[in-house]
Amino acid sequence: MPHNTSLIALLCIGFVMAFVLGLLAQRLKLSPLVGYLLAGVIAGPFTPGFVADQTLAPQLAEVGVILLMFGVGLHFSLRDLLDVKGVAIPGSLAQIGFTAPIGGVFGYLLGMPVLGAAVFGLALSVASTVVVMRALEDRRLLDAQRGRIAIGWLVVQDLAMVLALVLLPALANSSDTGHALGVAALAKTLGWTLLKVAAFVLSMLVVGRRVIPRALEYVAGLGSRELFTLCVLAIALGVAFGAAYLFDVSFALGAFFAGMLLNESELSHQAANDSLPLRDAFAVLFFVSVGMLFNPMILVDHPLLVLATLAIILLCNALVAATVVRLLRLPMLTALTLAACMAQIGEFSFILAGLGLWQKVLPQQGHDLILAGALLSIIANPFLFHWLDGWQRRNAPETLDTPAEVPLSNVPEDTSGHTLVVGFGRVGRDLARLLRDRSVPLVVIESDPDRVQQARDSGFLTVRGNAVLPAVLAAARAEAAHLVVLAMPQALEAGAILEHLKAANPTISVLARAHSEAEVKHLLERGADAAVLAERELAYSLRDMVMATPPYRPPRQTA
Ligand code: AMP
Repeated sequence: MPHNTSLIALLCIGFVMAFVLGLLAQRLKLSPLVGYLLAGVIAGPFTPGFVADQTLAPQLAEVGVILLMFGVGLHFSLRDLLDVKGVAIPGSLAQIGFTAPIGGVFGYLLGMPVLGAAVFGLALSVASTVVVMRALEDRRLLDAQRGRIAIGWLVVQDLAMVLALVLLPALANSSDTGHALGVAALAKTLGWTLLKVAAFVLSMLVVGRRVIPRALEYVAGLGSRELFTLCVLAIALGVAFGAAYLFDVSFALGAFFAGMLLNESELSHQAANDSLPLRDAFAVLFFVSVGMLFNPMILVDHPLLVLATLAIILLCNALVAATVVRLLRLPMLTALTLAACMAQIGEFSFILAGLGLWQKVLPQQGHDLILAGALLSIIANPFLFHWLDGWQRRNAPETLDTPAEVPLSNVPEDTSGHTLVVGFGRVGRDLARLLRDRSVPLVVIESDPDRVQQARDSGFLTVRGNAVLPAVLAAARAEAAHLVVLAMPQALEAGAILEHLKAANPTISVLARAHSEAEVKHLLERGADAAVLAERELAYSLRDMVMATPPYRPPRQTA
């Protein structure tokens, strides 16, 4: 293959393999992440067959991280960040302060030089944003208190990494030349870095805050969807690049700020939706490129060292995260969520490991151990969350609630024979009222806290939560329901709910809402008793109205 098609080859093979193996992983009830990582291992240089371009993959992965952090910023306002600083700052620093020295001592015992051991330890102590965001999004936790704490925690880690990445070359040079770096010189490098970060943040708050949302609003006013999407991308990538180029801040942090400033704009929701498909695609490339860096031989040559590294990542990080959260008197569920979030490492560790290798402070073995630890901890992560879901189910739903949120459920435990309506939006709300007028006993499931509040205010028994979760269905007494109506627009999610419902009670009747023929088919295949195509019903209603309107007669001409 000619060398100038390496990017195309990487994209094609990367996406195709990630898709095939991701699908396989999903069928095996594993996280698709495992499939993406394996796709990378296969496309990497350590396995026979096709070898993708090693220099391109990490760059594509970085684009994934940029778009991801932009998305995080879009969800996250400055106020959210300040709200959680009391947990995020001590938690994040404690995690690094605890795990990094333990990892460092382990590295030192393996014969790494002091600086190399420090890099090794640090790499084991910082979590991957990509992995955490995946887990939070899957569970719709981005807006929940514990999700916000996790995001704030990651932002603090990101800032700490900015410092580490800047300091490392300076420290490596001084150890190269044999002179211990003077305190003054170190302070100078540190001070300089902090100054640049401060300059970046300040310029974003002063200039960015005015310019960025206005630019987006102006482009939205032009009415071109394409230009709007392009504008969103230009803001995300442009600020990320500017941040890295002008202020030496990480790409990811720059993009995070860009998103956060847009957050205050009315258009942030559309901006988020527009950047979603691209973000997901590049996030997949992120995992593929991680797989590519991994040399599976380390598992054969040094299995015990790999296990020890993995144990440090899983146990130390989880332990310290849970402990800090508990010490700050937050609920056990928050503590366990943070523990699950932090018990893995990813992009920052690769960047650190790569830089350490390049600066000749980290031996190849240390680099390989970090990658093996990252790969295995990322694979293990969905299992931790799975365990967490189980814990949550078993340990009383009241642990779900943080004080700011609406209580989980007001449905009595002996409810039965009711009609269950999932979704209290445009369709569900009206349906619920119409049914109540006919004295049908009802229970509502709704995930949006504001709408749950509306439903409760209107006097409906309501469970707050995602109906995909078995615990939520159980709280709504779904297995004892007479009938279930899935009044939500997402047919794929409705299909998943259907499967749970039919598993719990094979004879239950389920009616579903659809927006295309394909969705009707999908829902019927999953066992829905009927699926109503919303747009067709609209056509019927309009036809009735047309027929009820008196025939059109042209006004009589008066001469
Ligand atoms: P609408 O499209 O206006 O009828 O709104 C649909 C409603 O369904 C919204 O209020 C969503 O929050 C809600 N919804 C969608 N999916 C789920 C789900 N899986 N579990 C609970 N509520 C949901």
